Amino acid sequence: MADSMEKLVALCKRRGFAYLASEIYGGLANSYTYGPYGVELKNNIKQLWWKTFVHNRVDMVGIDGPILLHPKLWEASGHVGGFNDAMVDCKNCKKRYRADHLIEKATGKDLEGNLEEMSAELAKNEIKCPNCGKADWTEARFFNMMFKTEMNGLDGAIYLRPETAGAIFIEFKNVLDTNRVKIPFGIAQIGKAFRNEIVAGNFIFRLREFEQMEIEYFIDPEKAWEDIFEQWFNDQMSFFLKLGAKEESLRRYEHPKEKLSHYSRKTVDVEFLYPFGWGELCGLANRGDFDLTQHSDASGQKLEYFDATNNRRFVPHVIEPSFGLDRAILMTLLSAYTEEGEGEEQRVVMKFPKVVAPVKIAVFPLLRNKPELIAKAEEVFKQLNTRWHCEFDDNGNIGKRYRRQDEIGTPYCVTVDFDSLEDDSVTVRDRDTMEQSRIPISELVNYFTNNLV
Ligand code: ATP
Repeated sequence: MADSMEKLVALCKRRGFAYLASEIYGGLANSYTYGPYGVELKNNIKQLWWKTFVHNRVDMVGIDGPILLHPKLWEASGHVGGFNDAMVDCKNCKKRYRADHLIEKATGKDLEGNLEEMSAELAKNEIKCPNCGKADWTEARFFNMMFKTEMNGLDGAIYLRPETAGAIFIEFKNVLDTNRVKIPFGIAQIGKAFRNEIVAGNFIFRLREFEQMEIEYFIDPEKAWEDIFEQWFNDQMSFFLKLGAKEESLRRYEHPKEKLSHYSRKTVDVEFLYPFGWGELCGLANRGDFDLTQHSDASGQKLEYFDATNNRRFVPHVIEPSFGLDRAILMTLLSAYTEEGEGEEQRVVMKFPKVVAPVKIAVFPLLRNKPELIAKAEEVFKQLNTRWHCEFDDNGNIGKRYRRQDEIGTPYCVTVDFDSLEDDSVTVRDRDTMEQSRIPISELVNYFTNNLV
């Protein structure tokens, strides 16, 4: 586990997991580009999520909706009126902060939502600006976090979606009409979401453009929901363990009843111990029939379910497991980061679970200037690369190549040496144990089929 964000950010840049975006123009706020290994890791996490929560279950289907959706959706959902954070500016240095975050850090109080109280609390406690140290604040005021843009043919503003869930609710009827889904069932979606966060930061923890993996799980309001809710919570936890989280770095945070939105019966977050402290990794909420009812009222369309077994028509309740992909990536990177050994033997190794490792196998010819070694290594590479994502590397000495693959988190390195030309075998080196085994080339596919699971 990485004990500092700096080390992880440096490794991500050095090895091509994530770069500060727009860097040649001086960077743009806290935005990042996933580099060649970052995008592989990201895709693997997405695929694992889809496999776990959609393909491996009989009660789930997926959709992929647009980022630009009808503005009425965000009025009905409450985002136009209420998706606000409280901000304050330091009058001295002009830096902007989340008022509730400043107060919570200084006093432990959670005053979300009450502007007057926040302003009073800042003044009373003389809370200092983290940037310049002065305690001279503007009044706290609300700021809507949705990004606005324009669309040809449409009067007024249109928004970049602040969450993916909205598209799921408005397609509820289409999914019912076109699929043989029966309650309880869920609809999943992965995609970009945009929030004009007052302060973005902590690398990919808080971004303004990020990706979510969300599920709306529709249930019968007359049946008990607590067990279904707990099962989802356990499934969320298991997913993070599969990504390599240690149990002690995950915890359950249950939102106190008085802090819940009026429609929520229960909200629980999974929190992760980041180097900067505990923070949200994903959420789970029972949102009742709020969303379907709101969209039904605003659109004039009935969003109901008909249960043919007992001739009942009802508006389902919904349980919402909501994952942030970038936070899942951050958690996976932090959990994988390992420093081992001493002196010459010291290494940094990303111990990713094999299923999400960006590269599964690296193939090395021992020397780059020996055509017969290169030819043999290319043969091995071709054989493996059609099945697993592989990398071919003939740069520098073998030790350096191992270090590079360790930092990328490649589970296996295969070296073709002079003996290989005689005995048609290669050396396979294990990332975690660093043990080396001699394996016949004809056995490699079998070997990796058994070991890369
Ligand atoms: P936070 O309290 O950290 O702002 P939130 O409670 O607003 O998060 P939700 O609205 O529940 O977050 O969104 C679901 C998930 O989306 C979060 O658990 C998180 O993983 C992810 N997420 C939300 N905001 C961001 C962001 N600005 N950058 C990256 N991921 C985010």
